[in-house]
Amino acid sequence: MRIQKNRGTYLPYKKEPMASLPLLRPDHIRQVILPIFSEYGVQCRLLLEKDSPVSQGQLLAEPLDEKGTPVYSSVSGILTDTYEAEHPLLGKTTYAIIECMTMDEPELDAPLDTEDLTAEELVAIAREYGIIDEIDGLPLANKLEGMVDLYPTCIVADAIEDQLYSCSAWATLREDYTQVLKGLRLAARAIHAAEYKIAVALTRVHETELKKEIPPEHLQTFEPDFYPHKELDDLGLAPFSIGVQACRALYRAASYKEPQTEGILTIAGPAASLPINMRVPFGTSLRVALEVCGVSDPSSEVLLGDSMTGLLLDSIDIPIVPGMTCIVGTDAVKTHASSPCLNCGRCAKVCHKHLLPYEIARRFENNQYSGIDAFHPSACDGCNACSYICPAKRNVSELVLEASTVAGVILFDWGPHHDE
Ligand code: SF4
Ligand code: SF4
Repeated sequence: MRIQKNRGTYLPYKKEPMASLPLLRPDHIRQVILPIFSEYGVQCRLLLEKDSPVSQGQLLAEPLDEKGTPVYSSVSGILTDTYEAEHPLLGKTTYAIIECMTMDEPELDAPLDTEDLTAEELVAIAREYGIIDEIDGLPLANKLEGMVDLYPTCIVADAIEDQLYSCSAWATLREDYTQVLKGLRLAARAIHAAEYKIAVALTRVHETELKKEIPPEHLQTFEPDFYPHKELDDLGLAPFSIGVQACRALYRAASYKEPQTEGILTIAGPAASLPINMRVPFGTSLRVALEVCGVSDPSSEVLLGDSMTGLLLDSIDIPIVPGMTCIVGTDAVKTHASSPCLNCGRCAKVCHKHLLPYEIARRFENNQYSGIDAFHPSACDGCNACSYICPAKRNVSELVLEASTVAGVILFDWGPHHDE
């Protein structure tokens, strides 16, 4: 199956096979660069002097206030220096540089009993072990505290991933469904929620696998053909959703006293010759991770995030930090002149959301916003198949996406005509 991002640029769809591959972990990384203080995120004080040895999982920096989360070293090595630079997510950031000597798979002792941990103790564990929710880059402890005040009945691990490439949540689940579910159960206890569910948009792969692994009462399923995140919102569950990686980290912090020092991210797109889900120590250079996946073409554009909502990066010389779960390397976008619609209907034929792109585009261009929502432009996921197939080279998908922003808003409604 081949899907297009913009006319002339194909995005090969490899999400499901990628999610089923084992997680790749780079063998050796020479250096990690860990944020210790930033404009928009972590705000900590470095605890070690320059040239100090540091071991993997050792506390590196402590938070400046009681709501902050500490930073742990993701590798063993030497703390050589600090420096300041911009990060696209964190703003102006001070980093600690650790020259990496070893990077081991953590060896775990027998798990501790978590059954008697109270809600307050679980929130304290999430804070103490530096757990950041990958969904939004916020400290998990602060999110859980905020949820308690809303008296939730259910908490959700969001593994929907409704864009083209992101599949790090699937890969996390597939690696160990049990740890995610156990961590979600602890999160439910932390906010006094009676129910806990993993939210997925069911594809064939999910259908056969997830239903086998996860009891039905802990699955919240959505049809991928609609807009699952909107449905999650309609069910009132969106404010009570956390990431599957955060669930796993909470389980491991409570059971093994293991801080969160690594993340799982998808690296894919047409510029990636080895698209894969990768487990990397935080602070790993994005350039190094991209090279492992074969993204080395200097004309590639690299998006932080997925194909629709990703942020085009100015530089790939940035460290991977919590909250980065998908990187898409794509070809430079090509554009072509377009001509008026030929009414051929090909765009409707290829639309996997069963929309009428030409009709939505026509109404939008003619300011016929009233009633446009009956054509469900908000179901469009921007896959661009309609623009690709259009013989008139119209950017139909862009028009449909723009139409979704006015759906339901009546700007021009002349109403029924009445003869006086
Ligand atoms: S209307 Fe949206 S979902 Fe349908 S083909 Fe076009 S871009 Fe894809
Ligand atoms: S494919 Fe292009 S020309 Fe054909 S109906 Fe759709 S918008 Fe019009």
